[in-house]
Amino acid sequence: MIRKFITRVFGRKAPGASGEPAVIGVGKHGIRRDAISSGSRRTVETLQKNGYKAYVVGGAVRDLIAGLVPKDYDVATNATPEQVRRCFRRARIIGRRFQIVHVMMGSETIEVTTFRGHHDQHVGNKAQTDDQGRVLRDNVFGSEKDDAARRDFTVNALYFDPTSETIVDYHHGVADLKQKTLRMIGDPKIRYREDPVRMLRAVRLAAKLGLTIDPAAGRPIREMSELIENVPPSRLFDEMLKLLTSGHAVRCVEQLRAEGLHHGLLPLLDVILEQPMGERFVMLALENTDRRVREGKPISPGFLFATLLWHEVLAKWDALMTGGDRQALTRIPALFQAMDEVLDVQAEKLAITRRIAGDIKDIWALQPRFEQRSGKRPFGVLEQPRFRAGYDFLLLRAESGEVDGELGQWWTDFMNHDGDARSAMLLPARASETKKRRRRKRRIAPDSSTETAE
Ligand code: ATP
Ligand code: MG
Repeated sequence: MIRKFITRVFGRKAPGASGEPAVIGVGKHGIRRDAISSGSRRTVETLQKNGYKAYVVGGAVRDLIAGLVPKDYDVATNATPEQVRRCFRRARIIGRRFQIVHVMMGSETIEVTTFRGHHDQHVGNKAQTDDQGRVLRDNVFGSEKDDAARRDFTVNALYFDPTSETIVDYHHGVADLKQKTLRMIGDPKIRYREDPVRMLRAVRLAAKLGLTIDPAAGRPIREMSELIENVPPSRLFDEMLKLLTSGHAVRCVEQLRAEGLHHGLLPLLDVILEQPMGERFVMLALENTDRRVREGKPISPGFLFATLLWHEVLAKWDALMTGGDRQALTRIPALFQAMDEVLDVQAEKLAITRRIAGDIKDIWALQPRFEQRSGKRPFGVLEQPRFRAGYDFLLLRAESGEVDGELGQWWTDFMNHDGDARSAMLLPARASETKKRRRRKRRIAPDSSTETAE
């Protein structure tokens, strides 16, 4: 009933009918010109005054209709990058493969893109693809209609003109959004082959907007998930970061799993989610991150990746201390070796930047130092630049049951007390040693790969 009504109002003609887009008035979509940021509105108006077509497009229009606050604004136009640049006082052309223009309006930066052609429609200009069909170059200008067709999902192909307050809708995106469906434009298999990152985007956008992935777009993901391996690491890292910091990381990961996608699609989570202790820790970390994102607090990628990889470090740390076919290392050298090995493996899949890798290591390296609660050492730990992140990390470990809750509580108290009270808290050197030994005995899980490396 509702579905029929929505379809009648927003129109879903047979695919490829006239090829003309629906032009939807404000009475039906409800987005007024003052709903968008002033910077994006001024950018569109300036381009239009100079005789060009211009719209706010993509995620911002989608989010506004869905009742969310857009993260950023993209503008699409038929002006070339050079023409765009000349329309504004503060604008610069960026990018090599496909040039876009950053227009600075007050504190906002608006990304302006020239309508892009979908390579299929440019036979003489065919995009280069790799053996699997992944698009390597995609740098042809196109018409407005071409631009809509090369976008991934129908809800992402909406063009809002603030001047007339209309939405130009080539692929029934408004109807799909109202019906809570994430539908791929074109043949999903071909679109995933062109760009496997679209599989991750499908999961992330469905989780963020509460949409159901249309079966035609959902079904092929399982069999195609390994194509993710061909994606350059830096892109995969960006997309993973978006997914994990979307404010819906828990839902995203659950959805990836429900579809059997955490294998291969997310190399990072492969091992971890198979281990009960690892899973509990990762899920707590993700819940924590989601909460912070929703409260508008900053989150650090270093902290996030430190949590995701921690149980791999624990397993490796343990193995290095035991020796196996290598010579056994003592505790701290073994930890540093484990940290390097885990990060090296991930670097091949995800381009974790050097700065973030530094943050991750600082957080990990602090962990054994939290056990030293006698003499001057705890004071030194407090002075560490990454103390706060390391301490938050320790609390997560305690919450997940990996270390004693008492250890986390001790540090909370130590931090909150002042000088004399702190000194009174210090453990005698011997007692702290005994505690350490006692903890070493306490095995958390029977499976040796999941125990703490204590
Ligand atoms: P969000 O900003 O919430 O991450 P978004 O959809 O705006 O989501 P962006 O990366 O900002 O994502 O992309 C802007 C628009 O560009 C999208 O809405 C979509 O139309 C198009 N787009 C982005 N990535 C792809 C892709 N891999 N394939 C096709 N179109 C894409
Ligand atoms: Mg966006």
